[in-house]
Parts: sequence; C-alpha cells; structure tokens
Amino acid sequence: MLISIVVPCFNEEAVIDRFHEHLVVELLTIQHEFEFVYVDDGSKDDTLSMLKRLAGTDARVRYVSFSRNFGKEAAMFAGLRNASGDAVIIMDADLQHPPELVGRMVELREAGHDQVIAKRTRDGDRVTRTWMARGYYRLVNRLVDVELVDGVGDFRLLSRRAVNAVLQLTEYNRFSKGLFAWVGFPSVTFEYRNAVREEGRSKWTFSQLLNYGADGVISFNNKPLRAAVYLGLLLLSVAVLYAAWIVGGVLVDGVDTPGYATLLVVMTALAGVQMVMVGVIGEYIGRIYYEVKRRPHYLVQSTNVDQTADIKDLV
Ligand code: UDP
Ligand code: MG
Repeated sequence: MLISIVVPCFNEEAVIDRFHEHLVVELLTIQHEFEFVYVDDGSKDDTLSMLKRLAGTDARVRYVSFSRNFGKEAAMFAGLRNASGDAVIIMDADLQHPPELVGRMVELREAGHDQVIAKRTRDGDRVTRTWMARGYYRLVNRLVDVELVDGVGDFRLLSRRAVNAVLQLTEYNRFSKGLFAWVGFPSVTFEYRNAVREEGRSKWTFSQLLNYGADGVISFNNKPLRAAVYLGLLLLSVAVLYAAWIVGGVLVDGVDTPGYATLLVVMTALAGVQMVMVGVIGEYIGRIYYEVKRRPHYLVQSTNVDQTADIKDLV
C-alpha cells in the first residue's frame, strides 16, 4: 500500500524540518510505502525553499506551492488532488498531530475502515474556548444534517475511494469537517491527547473562528432559511392576535389607546428581525455568487508534481 501524507503549510519554517524528521523516524516501523505531499499555502517565510531542499534530500517528498495564501481548506484540497496513494493521511505541520499515531491509523485502515478519524481531547485549551466549542456543536448538530463532532478535525486517514469522493465535492466554500462527514463510508474514531503548539503560532483569530462556525451552519443546508419562514409566521400570528385585542378594546371601550411606546418597540424589533433575515438570505446569495464564478480553488506557482492530469480535470 502506498500512503500519502498531506501537509498544508503556511509560514511553518520553524517546524517543517523537525516535523519531517520526526515523521520519517516514526514511519520506519511501518511496512508500507510513503509519499509526502507538502502544500505551501503562499507562505511569506522560507517554507518553500525548505520544502525544495527536503525534496532534494528525500525523493518521496512532493511539494505544491500556491501563488498566494488561499487558506487551509484550499491547501488540503490541493494535497488530496496531488496525492497518489491508496490511502491519504492529512496532518498539520505544527506537530500538534502526533506522527506517533500514523501507525495506529494505518492498522485501522488495514482492518477495513475507510476513514480513520483522530479526535483530540481539549486538554490545554482555555475553558472559555472549550465551552464555546461545546455549545457550538450542540447547536450546529441540531441544524446540520451531517454529524459534526467536537474535537474531530482534519487529522484523519482516508481510503482512496473516500478521497475520490471528497474530490468530487468541488464547491468553492469548503468546510472539510462537514465534507468528510458527508462522504460517509465505514469510519472509526479514536482519541488522542492534544499537544500544545511548540513553535510558530496558531493562525486562527477569534473572528475567523466565528466565520468558520457560520460556514459550518450555512454551507450544509437551508435550515436557517426555513427558520426564517417559521419565525416570520410566528411574528405574524402574534401581530394578528395583538391587533385583534387592540381593535376589540377600542370597539368595546370606545376610546383611542395611546400606543406610542409600544409602536416604537414593535417597529424596532421587527426591523431588527428583518435585518437578520435579509442577512441570512444574503449569506446564501453570497455563496451562490462565489460558486457561479467557478474560479479555481487555488493557483500553483511551483511544484514537483506532474500537473497535466490535474489541469485536464479542471477543464
Ligand atoms: N494552514 C494553512 N493555510 C492557512 C492557515 C493554516 O495551510 O491559511 C496550515 C498550517 O500551516 C498548519 C495547519 O494549517 O499546518 C493548521 O493551522 P494552525 O496550527 O494555525 O491551526 P490550529 O492548529 O490552531 O487549528
Ligand atoms: Mg495547529
């Protein structure tokens, strides 16, 4: 079995050599062939030249370098496309995904699982982040059809047929966690202890996390739109009841009811609700806008992988 290890790298000069050395040592004990597909996601530091050097010293190293930063999702997509293995393992370059686990993943693949999913514990995370994550997953699983699990990320092994399935999902807005879950196939999850990033730093800002969270909800179905319809109906029925009550009061008592404050509150509340709903619709339209442009997910500026097959795929 040839196993491809796909590694998205963005400004990882501080860890790449250590990562590769560590990985190579781990793989010595495994009776399979390996190739490494490093995707340089438009790094501003020396990542690319280090990858080129690695490719010079280790013939199993492939690299694909983007013309600019396209994001981890695009980098993973490129990695999967350029991997030729019978199974593919996706790992972060920052050693947060312990290379020691590769052996275990391969064994589980041999046992017949198409997806071997590593689930991290939240050791070492701040309590607020853990709480937010827990709340988010509870909410998102109510909204989304595929099941998303807290702690499950992109660190996983995919069989060739699972990889091919993921490659068929060519949407521009990629939310891999959900795409992997959508693909299905026999899967197994195992837990590992999260390691703290040693070098460099996480590229996630709070607002990026927030956007990522919104993506998770919106890129999978139209339930938020459905919710808007129900909320509209609910508000409408409340308004009808209230109107009946007021009109009834005027007819019975015959007096005009002063309602300046009520009016203002109701109007602002409704305006707010409408704004939110227009926003939800806008999110979907925005996605449609990006999808219909059919732009490539990334542009390659240099690579040692033969791209002819890839280009044929694109046209
Ligand atoms: N990464 C990438 N492109 C980006 C951001 C990150 O390829 O725009 C890579 C990064 O080099 C690392 C992996 O994605 O290998 C995970 O990134 P990071 O450690 O910043 O995320 P975290 O572990 O905090 O989720
Ligand atoms: Mg990390």
